[in-house]
Amino acid sequence: MSYPLPASIPQATLGKLAKLGIRDRFDLVLHLPLRYEDETQLQHIAGLVPGVSAQVEGEIIHSEVTYRPRRTLLCQLQDDSGVLHLRYLNFYPSQQKQLAVGKRIRALGEPRIGYFGMEMVHPKCRAAGADAPLKQALTPVYPTTAGLPQTTLSKHIQAALHELELPDTLPPDLLARLRLPPFADSVQLLHNPPPHTDENVLAERAHPAWLRIKFDELLAQQLSMRVHYRKRRSRNAPQLPARNSLTRQLLQTLPFALTAAQQKVLHEISRDLEQTHPMQRLLQGDVGSGKTVVAALAALQAIENGYQVALMSPTEILAEQHYLKLRDWLAPLDIAPAWLSGSLKKKDKQAAAERIAQGETPLAIGTHALFQQQVEFRNLGLVIVDEQHKFGVQQRLALRGKGSEPHQLMMSATPIPRTLAMSYYADLDVSVIDELPPGRTPVVTKLVSDARREEVFERVRHACMAGRQAYWVCPLIDESEALQLQTAIDTHQQLSNAFPELRVGLVHGKLPPAEKAAMMAAFKAGEVQLLVATTVIEVGVDVPNASLMVIDHAERMGLAQLHQLRGRVGRGAAESMCVLLFQQPLSELARARLKIVFENSDGFEIAQQDLQLRGPGELLGARQSGVPMLRFADVSADAVLLDSARAIADELLRDLPQVAQAHLQRWMANKHDFLHA
Ligand code: ADP
Ligand code: MG
Repeated sequence: MSYPLPASIPQATLGKLAKLGIRDRFDLVLHLPLRYEDETQLQHIAGLVPGVSAQVEGEIIHSEVTYRPRRTLLCQLQDDSGVLHLRYLNFYPSQQKQLAVGKRIRALGEPRIGYFGMEMVHPKCRAAGADAPLKQALTPVYPTTAGLPQTTLSKHIQAALHELELPDTLPPDLLARLRLPPFADSVQLLHNPPPHTDENVLAERAHPAWLRIKFDELLAQQLSMRVHYRKRRSRNAPQLPARNSLTRQLLQTLPFALTAAQQKVLHEISRDLEQTHPMQRLLQGDVGSGKTVVAALAALQAIENGYQVALMSPTEILAEQHYLKLRDWLAPLDIAPAWLSGSLKKKDKQAAAERIAQGETPLAIGTHALFQQQVEFRNLGLVIVDEQHKFGVQQRLALRGKGSEPHQLMMSATPIPRTLAMSYYADLDVSVIDELPPGRTPVVTKLVSDARREEVFERVRHACMAGRQAYWVCPLIDESEALQLQTAIDTHQQLSNAFPELRVGLVHGKLPPAEKAAMMAAFKAGEVQLLVATTVIEVGVDVPNASLMVIDHAERMGLAQLHQLRGRVGRGAAESMCVLLFQQPLSELARARLKIVFENSDGFEIAQQDLQLRGPGELLGARQSGVPMLRFADVSADAVLLDSARAIADELLRDLPQVAQAHLQRWMANKHDFLHA
């Protein structure tokens, strides 16, 4: 099914339509109104209510142009019940003519109480009379772009509605079961709602016609994800059965026992690795829940089977921490991982790549350099991606090998609310670590105005003098990296001056990797007591003796980010605290957001509330640009529809594959990226 735009549309208009995402006539049909104007009925002037849009009809009894305070066309329109003032600040001579004394006109607008009585500012006016009957439907107002008038857009949409057949993709008995109207009726109604249709119900997208559109969109999304999921199951991957040799050895040497949650997810991963198709599993666990050891055990299961493993992290600091940790853990097993990052000297990089290519090491750890630098693995069996939300979908897919495909384990500390996971990660399997290792002390969170900065200094001094350590996180400055760096340097200077008795360190993104590593090592060893940092420490840094974190300008940060940062403390036995320093005045939204972090310690709860506050685009992050956003449905408000779309998708694929196919065709015809397969 393809519905090309008619050849009669001029090139310039095609360009404007393309700007609105309209590439064929089905796109026109789905270009739904923002709101409506009611030109189906007339009100009496005497009955106008301020703020409630209405249409009135009458005779112009007065019309003049005044110049104070600025050039204004002032008219009076009279009907049987009273007089209404019309006011135009910008007007054309033609309008002035249209509104001359004696003309009968209809005015549509929002009345308000003005200086002379009830008035409308810039109402929409048209000549009244026998040749201008009242409209038979509410008038749609469409989202548009400069140079494309409503009338032109509306004309093309109405033509498409009229010409396209739009047979329903879903069988009538299914629609009856779901209590949803036919598709054609739904778009027809949304473009031309009959008089007296409740505009609020339309605006809230709660009208059955809206529900049908949203359901269709969600169904298409679920279908495409499921299709993708099934395709994966038909591809080949090496079978990596659990042999419990290396994994058992690691478990025996670890200083702790796995939590029940870690055992559960490990079992899920282990079972996936035994399959003949590639695993694509998302491992979610709050900060500090212990994902690294799970990753190490998964890696060992692949290594036990003679395959290689790549562990990729988004930042050097994080990659290096993993490297150091795994190197120590695996030393007793005689496994020496290779370290590969973009900042290595060319010679060292080549040496590492050589070891990997020759299969001399079964484990490669690094940044995305692992995959950018033409590194050839000898037999890659498993790819582990830490903090996967920091990578785009494209990068994720770039990991796929040729021929036989490696298994993939993606880890994320950014908790994804259930509805979002169902919607955007439906092509993945998901494991969740839902418990923290024992012995953690809850972090006390404080919201402190920047006006009380000095008190916070005292707190820092006190903690450090008592033998503990602290982080000072510098504000995020979106506009300029240089400015962000400068702020970090200034803050470091300020704190060094304030605490001559302490050793104050500084890490930031621009620091050469060797210096960064040296600073992190010094902090870990307790040689540095206060670490000033940009958000490079957001993920993964693990220093149990650090018990205080101050986050400067906390109002500028994302909630997930704040939660992650806070997770850097509270890892040891000492009572820990996170101080969120904020700058006055706080906007309403900023206040609400900080309150969420203040009141909740559960990452999932924070993410859920953040989703409600800001919508999924923000939460998934711009980097997830490969992920199709929903246009009509809202995963948080339409959770019920999403649930049924999910169930119906499975049902259709099982019982009515040709229906599923037709539905996908209609909704995905233009959107190949949606299938990202
Ligand atoms: P994250 O999930 O944030 O990546 P990590 O894997 O860095 O968390 O683990 C956080 C800390 O908890 C590390 O010091 C790790 O060694 C420790 N840890 C992990 N699992 C356990 C456990 N079962 N019992 C005690 N400590 C654990
Ligand atoms: Mg981690």
